[in-house]
Amino acid sequence: MKRIIITIDGWSSCGKSTLAKQLARELNYVYVDSGAMYRAITLYFLRNHVDWTKTKQVVDALKDIHLEFIYNPQSAQSEIYLNDENVEYVIRDLVVAEKVSEIATIKEVREYAVAQQHKMGKRKGIVMDGRDIGTVVFPDAELKIYMTADSAVRVQRRFKELFEKNPNITIEEVKANLEMRDYIDSNREISPLRKADDALELDNTHISPAQQLHKALGWVLSRTTQPQKL
Ligand code: C5P
Repeated sequence: MKRIIITIDGWSSCGKSTLAKQLARELNYVYVDSGAMYRAITLYFLRNHVDWTKTKQVVDALKDIHLEFIYNPQSAQSEIYLNDENVEYVIRDLVVAEKVSEIATIKEVREYAVAQQHKMGKRKGIVMDGRDIGTVVFPDAELKIYMTADSAVRVQRRFKELFEKNPNITIEEVKANLEMRDYIDSNREISPLRKADDALELDNTHISPAQQLHKALGWVLSRTTQPQKL
């Protein structure tokens, strides 16, 4: 079967990474969580007190950042490393989530991340999720999916995920964070979140993970098999 690039974009917490992981497993593709890259950069800026309103500080800091995805056979997924430290868990913290969208508006940060994402897509056989993957990073991708889900469902999902790590978290905090990120992500000047003209929409509010995978695999099949010659 022809190996392609699959992009999945959409609002925060609408199930993009769940679908991306399902597809990667099913197709034996590489899964790249582009949001993890912006989160890891944010973590570095916070830890190193980088003033991201100053371009020189941003540019200098980016020179010291090395990001890598390494497959963990135990969790059966790729995990992100920031300068050789596994930060897959710590970048999910609300402290990072509160700043990531602001940092992701910075031109130099986006250029840095997109350059690495381009390299990762060179060999195809990749599924990448994010906000600008089908519109900016891989505008020629063979399959583009735009995911949506009801906002109350999205808040519940993210709350459940974060509550397992931090029982002090409130649903109001989670809701405020999602609303703030969605607003910044869709209104920023550079690479705002929008549905690519040729993207297929998948609303997963009322469908199960198995149903969403089935639907997406049908789309993959339509992009990877040649029409029969008569
Ligand atoms: O996907 P996730 O929610 O982990 O992404 C965290 C943040 O990173 C998003 O809210 C957005 O601000 C930023 N992001 C982005 N472009 C991407 C992926 C993520 O701006 N392709």
